[in-house]
Formats: sequence, C-alpha cells, structure tokens
Amino acid sequence: MLKNLPSTPQEIIAWTWPAIEKHYKKLEARPLDASSVDGWLADWSSVGERLQEMYSRLSVATSINTADKEAEARMNAFLDGIFPKAMAVEQKLKEKLLASKLEPKGFQIPLRNMRAEADLFRESNLALLADQQKLGIEFDKIYGAQTVKWEGEEITLTRLALNFHQPDRARREKAWHLKAERQLSDRKAINDLWKKFMAVRAKIARNADKPSFREYIWVQNLRFDYGPEDCKSFAAAIEKVVVPAATRIYQKRKQALGLDVLRPWDLVDGWFLRPAPAAGVPALEPFTSIEKLKTKTSSIFHNLDPVLGGYFDSMVAEGLTDLDNRKNKAPGAYCTSFPSIRKPFVFVNAVGTHEDVMTTLHESGHAFHVFETAKIPYIHQLSVPMEFAEVASMGMELLASPFLTKARGGFYSESEAGRARVDHLEGMILFWPFMAVVDLFQQWVYENPKKGADPAACDNKWGELWDRFIPGVDYSGLEEIKETGWHRKLHIHQVPFYYVEYGLAQLGAVQIFGNARKNQSSALTAYRKALSLGGTVSLPELFAAANARFAFDVPTIKKAVDLMETVVKELDKQK
Ligand SMILES: [Zn+2]
Repeated sequence: MLKNLPSTPQEIIAWTWPAIEKHYKKLEARPLDASSVDGWLADWSSVGERLQEMYSRLSVATSINTADKEAEARMNAFLDGIFPKAMAVEQKLKEKLLASKLEPKGFQIPLRNMRAEADLFRESNLALLADQQKLGIEFDKIYGAQTVKWEGEEITLTRLALNFHQPDRARREKAWHLKAERQLSDRKAINDLWKKFMAVRAKIARNADKPSFREYIWVQNLRFDYGPEDCKSFAAAIEKVVVPAATRIYQKRKQALGLDVLRPWDLVDGWFLRPAPAAGVPALEPFTSIEKLKTKTSSIFHNLDPVLGGYFDSMVAEGLTDLDNRKNKAPGAYCTSFPSIRKPFVFVNAVGTHEDVMTTLHESGHAFHVFETAKIPYIHQLSVPMEFAEVASMGMELLASPFLTKARGGFYSESEAGRARVDHLEGMILFWPFMAVVDLFQQWVYENPKKGADPAACDNKWGELWDRFIPGVDYSGLEEIKETGWHRKLHIHQVPFYYVEYGLAQLGAVQIFGNARKNQSSALTAYRKALSLGGTVSLPELFAAANARFAFDVPTIKKAVDLMETVVKELDKQK
C-alpha cells in the first residue's frame, strides 16, 4: 500500500509533482507477477484517481468562478507542470503491465485498449499530432473572429443565432442571411486550412502504417465493435426509414407555420435541427428559482426510480451541483467525476428555460453512471465508450420525460409537457439524417483522399448528400451556402469522425425508453445494471445489459422510429 496519498479535496488540489512522482517511481520499481498484480493495480488506481480528481476539482473551481485567480494559477500549473509528466509515467506503467503478459480479472477491456494505443503510437507522429491541434486552433480563430453588424451593434454569430428562436419569420430570415454571408466570406480561408488538415492527416496515417486516416482514427477512437461498413449500413437504414419520417415532420411544420415551403431559417440550426417556434406559442417557463429546479427534478427522479431520486438528493445535499447562471461562471453544462470518492459533479447554467430542464436531466444521467460504478475497483475500468456514455444521458432524458407533468412531479401542464416532448422526439428524428450526412461525407473524404482534399469536390459531395438526406428544406438560390455546410460542422475539422457515436447512443436510448413503456421497473433495473458495468465489457455487451441492441440495421431503427412516431401522435392529442 502506498502511504501519504492526499485524501481531502484541499490536499488533492494542492498535490505537487515531486510528491506524485515518488508514488509512480515506487510503482515502476515494484516487481510484477500473478501474486502482486492486484495490489499493484489498486495502488496505481489510487494514484490515478487522485490525479484525475485533481484535474476535475481544478476544472470545477475555474468554471464555477472564472475570476478565481488562485484556481486559474493552479490549473495552469497543473497543465504545464504536472499533466505532461504524469502522462509519460502513466504510459510507462501501461507498458510495464503489457510487458508482464498478466491478464488480471476484469481487465480484458482496459488491456485491449492499452494494446491498441501502444500499437498505434509512433514517436514520429507526435509533432504531426501537435500540428493538427494547431490547425484546429486556426479553425477556431477564423470562426471566433466572425462578427456582424445587427441593429447598429457589432455582435458575435452566437448572439445573432438567438434570433433563430424568434417566431418572427422575417427577422429569422434576415439573421440567417447575415450569418451565412459572413461565414461565406471566409470560404477561402477554410478551404486553405482544409488542404493542410488533409495533408497532415495523410502523413499521420502513413507513419502509423494505416492505409488511410480513417483506419487510423478507428483505432484512436477505440472502435473495436463496428467498422466503416456498419456506419454505411446505418446511414442506409436512416435513408430508408428516418428520411421519410423526417419529411413527415417537415410537412407537419409547414402546416403549423402556414407555409408552402420550408426554408433553412425555419429550423433552429443547433445541436439538433429543431424547428423554429410558431407565432403565438409562448415559450415554456418551467421555473423561476434554482430551488424549484432542484425540488422538481428530485421529484421526477423519485417517481421514476427511488434509488435515482436518492442519488440526485445526495448530490444536492453534498454540494455536488452548481446549477444557476451567474456572473463569472463559465458557459455550458457538463458532468465530471471525483474518482477518489466516486462521486459526480454536475454543472449547468440554468436561467429558467425548458432547455435547462433537459440539460439537467441529461447531465444527471451521466451523474448516475458515476454513482452506479462506485463499486468497480480500478480507475482503468471506468472509461466508458462514448457510444454508451451518451445512452446513460440521452436515455435519462427520455425515461424522465413522462414525469414532466405536474401530476407526476414535474413542471408542466399536460399540454405544455406534450409540446415539449413532441419537440424533443421530433428533434431526435431530424438529427439522424444530419448525422448520416456528416458521417458519409467523411467516409468519402478519406476513401478518396485526392478528391477529399479538393474543396470544390467536397462542396459537390456535401450538396449531393444533403439533397438525399434532407430533402424537406428548400435551399433554392442558396446553393453556395448549402454546399459549404461541411465548413460549419466543426467536428469534421477538429474531431474527425466523432459524430456517429451520438446517432448510435440515441438508438440505444430510444430502445430503453421503449422498454420502459412496457415495463418501467425492469427497464430501469436493466439501465442501472448496464451503467454499473462501467468500462469492463464490450460495447455490444453494454447495450445488451440495458436490454437494447447495438445495431445498424433497418428493423432496429424502424422499430425505434415507429415508437417515436406513435408517442408523438399520442402527445399531439394532449397538446
Ligand atoms: Zn452527454
């Protein structure tokens, strides 16, 4: 057993490199065999947990108060002085474990990941990976510098985009054109950057002895349970089943808005392609105080499952949530974890909107994952693949949705809840075709690297995919803007191929929701059981434990879409 490990939060954030290094040196020197490996892993895990907790605690401190100079200084010291050194010694311990050829119980998956990462590693790629990062920063700079003049004021495009949520169509259209034209004026800059991205990625793949960058990224993202062909099957199933369903939604929107054709400014181009609000429909106002957000969310979870309700209450009681929006708080929402105590921390910027309710439910789903894995012995067994981590959170959004009404503990009247749930389900249906465009575009780019590096060919391909998958929105006269859509999907540039995960997780979430409609308690038991496995089993096994199929085929996705459309019809009646 290692001695003198920090235990309180104060000790953890004040940990120093010499103190940390001492523990790693001991672990490196200790002989490793079948009889000593469990103790060795436990000690390694204790150090790793505290190191990760140090980072989480500092992230929380800097995001809950961006003006906290001391926290910021500590975070910078961690990133510059501790993080790179810690990564290097962590790598040494991984190599030591792999070299021992030992196969500790429950370690198959972590070992598989470590082996893949070791196989992919090339000294010669370090500088290229850093170059790729820098290109990503360039990309951010181009977009970050974009501002427009709106009503006499110089504003960012993010602020301008708030207008897309307005019922006033002329205002939406004006804002949309302004945004699109501003972005189009950087067309050449993005195209030039793209050529550089493609060149550096081709070199990275070659150095790692991979036939293309796609094969490289597949290993880097630890995608062991599906291949590019599966993603193409998924896209084909989406085209066959989801595109017609999405077209029905567009049809319905046209009727609701009294329009003959739907134009791009009739959609809120955000995370999901949500439809813009119709005139005369007031925005939902679920809460006016954070206290109410907490108590209502708590009662929703208690009605869903008393254990989950208990988890949420304990987070609130122990100060493991920070939900309100205020000055000097970082934007956005997240759930992080404190691995040494196996507790989550949920961060939201709630101001009183329905989005805030959904975000709180979503992040709580991630938090429940942390609670459920409390008994897993080693930190290495806790990393859950993204395709399933988002099942926990997206699944929670759906599982909690029937409890949004006041009668069942929530915030809304029957009709308000109906409206909110229809928007949510329809937004999910509209997301799948968009996801397919983003994925198929990248498949094409890296299968045809020469054409893929030619921006004009990319424009053509994107336009062609867009017309196939999103036929319900009329872009006539706006072809240039439509075809350069790949410029505006930052994942394509900064985190290549990272997108299909959301589509797969969504399919898992809908299946769990379907199970709950048949049998609430057995669905919840399976959901919690699957969460409790952490990262100890494969992706298909995680889905199976939740009573869902990890699948890409037409029948699975058809069943999901049928269910969603059935629920929408039911809810439309109560609206
Ligand atoms: Zn999430």
